[in-house]
Amino acid sequence: MPVPLISAPDTATPFAAALGGLPFGVLMSFAIAFGLVIGSFLNVVVHRLPIMLERAWRADVAEATGTPGPLFEDDGLPARYNLWLPRSACPHCGHVLRAWENIPVISWLALRGRCSHCHAGVSVRYPLIELASAACAAGALLAFGPTGKALAAFMLCAGLIAASAIDLEHQMLYDEITQPLLWAGLLVNFTGTFAGLREAVIGAVAGYLALWCVYWLFKLLRGVEGMGHGDFKLLAALGAWLGWSALPQIVVIAAVAGALVGIAATLIGRMRFEEPLPFGPYLAAGAIITLFVGTPLYGVFAWGT
Ligand SMILES: [Zn+2]
Repeated sequence: MPVPLISAPDTATPFAAALGGLPFGVLMSFAIAFGLVIGSFLNVVVHRLPIMLERAWRADVAEATGTPGPLFEDDGLPARYNLWLPRSACPHCGHVLRAWENIPVISWLALRGRCSHCHAGVSVRYPLIELASAACAAGALLAFGPTGKALAAFMLCAGLIAASAIDLEHQMLYDEITQPLLWAGLLVNFTGTFAGLREAVIGAVAGYLALWCVYWLFKLLRGVEGMGHGDFKLLAALGAWLGWSALPQIVVIAAVAGALVGIAATLIGRMRFEEPLPFGPYLAAGAIITLFVGTPLYGVFAWGT
């Protein structure tokens, strides 16, 4: 029997009261389906946001230097390119996906990870992001019940999944994700949803400064950049959502997980020892664990007593 994690249903809002009457199985099916659909959208964000931002940067450079060079022609994509347009297509052959080819996870499995038209491989990242999103939606329902708090928790997870997937692929944590997350965290905690407002504000500042100090120490001692600026901003966002007291656990989980993966990747020859490891996904994992299970590590080290 799984341990019941559900907190007392929050029937204070009409939203929660309406959902609270539904059987748990129905709620869970709805949460998983919702998670899969949002996961499918996150795939679009992960694929398109870097392209959209690169185009914007090139347009800025062209404008600043007064050299209207080739802006978009060489990426082979239409001039109007955003999160909604054009419709999803195979990046290899341009085959526009039909509705049945766009069903989260199921389409990828049915097509055995290949485009139905040119048979080029479709990255396993697509179903993995959809599954991760569905798992977070289910986790949010289990941890917080059918409440606005669960929805907010899921939104944090969705932002972290998108930021992590982009960081893994491009070694870049974009302000376009970390900054809205930071402000959203402060807003969500205005009424103390995950942490008191004081804890959240101190968390945002402490998250930024902690990694900023590590960055400068590394730079002064070793003359290299140990991490990107995006990492400070991400930890600031996590402090805003979960409060300053969650930060040590998040950083410990991230550092241990990052070190283990780094050592394993070096041992099997997938990575050189000096190569920088994207830290964003590990911070995100530490934050999602802390969001759902609290801070049990402090009990182990008796920091919380
Ligand atoms: Zn194709």
